[in-house]
Amino acid sequence: MQNTPEQPRCLHCHRPLRSAKSIALGYGPTCARKIRRAPVDTSGYKPHQIASARELIEDAAIIPLRSIVFVAVSSDGTETYKTAPNACSCPAGVKGSRCYHQLAARMLLAA
Ligand SMILES: [Zn+2]
Ligand SMILES: [Zn+2]
Repeated sequence: MQNTPEQPRCLHCHRPLRSAKSIALGYGPTCARKIRRAPVDTSGYKPHQIASARELIEDAAIIPLRSIVFVAVSSDGTETYKTAPNACSCPAGVKGSRCYHQLAARMLLAA
């Protein structure tokens, strides 16, 4: 059983995406705005980490997997990590550091 071939859907609300821009971004315009304005506590994060988290979202390099777990692509694109708001399988995350993947997950969950 398959749905009609690969209708691109918003990663956040799963509605079909129509514009090329939305498809490239992975989110519809409303969800993109919500994510950008998500009320997330970024204290404890450095500005470059906050920028990296936003970039990760804008590049659609962090994808929901199930409930609060996401799959994030490493910055060089060679690896993927499992990311939750308080845990991540990246080298920094396994050492217990707060990586920007976790911040991106929080932004997505707060939107
Ligand atoms: Zn949406
Ligand atoms: Zn991480």
